[in-house]
Amino acid sequence: MPALTQLAVTFPALTAIIAVRYMAVAGLAYWLVWGPGDRRARGRQLNRDRPKRAVIVHELTLSVFSSWIYAAPAACAFIVWRQGGTRIYTDVSRYGLVWLFVSGAAYLVIQDAYYYWLHRVMHHQALFRWVHAGHHRSREPTPFASFSFDWAEAALNAWLLPALTFLIPVHPAVILMLLTLATIAAVLNHAGAEVLPNWWLRGPLGRWLISASHHSLHHSHYGRNFGLYFRFWDLLMGTDMVPRLEAP
Ligand SMILES: [Zn+2]
Ligand SMILES: [Zn+2]
Repeated sequence: MPALTQLAVTFPALTAIIAVRYMAVAGLAYWLVWGPGDRRARGRQLNRDRPKRAVIVHELTLSVFSSWIYAAPAACAFIVWRQGGTRIYTDVSRYGLVWLFVSGAAYLVIQDAYYYWLHRVMHHQALFRWVHAGHHRSREPTPFASFSFDWAEAALNAWLLPALTFLIPVHPAVILMLLTLATIAAVLNHAGAEVLPNWWLRGPLGRWLISASHHSLHHSHYGRNFGLYFRFWDLLMGTDMVPRLEAP
């Protein structure tokens, strides 16, 4: 099949997969956190008010555009892979079992570092309005904010993972795991409530990993907590703001 025909099929298919994955995970999280019943039983409330309809509509609209933008470089990498390019491999024995973990960790660390610095640049006053204001329209985010980016922010983020597949050997199962992790982390971090227990947040995991308590502070204090997965860069650069936790 010619590459252009493949692109015409792969691009909308990936857009649909990305959009459906986002809607399913964010929708489920929204229902669990903000659905009927006693919300306090489901986690510590981080938002003061119930999410407003206008905020959710805005988050959903940007997320649909983000799905298109994320699908474009992913579709290109997919087609190149099917034609024998990229460093995606399917035979696990080629690099061994340990490499599955090493490559996964390498991708996470690179994505995290890239996002921290990109995020700081996007907060520069000359750029913020054009690339990042859309995400910050959600001062009290809902799970649907996890993918609500201005088109420029989406484009600046979307190319990284497909580009890395040309540099660092990676198994499709690791890519799937990374995408799943990214979706769950983003949805939890924008849930508007902290579902993780205090022992987690106070322990070594909470001290090094980003949580809803940590990221929600970024939505109210723009100059702090820029990280994606790890607090490492925030701690190193002095931008880390420690979430205040309730007594156990
Ligand atoms: Zn920001
Ligand atoms: Zn956010």
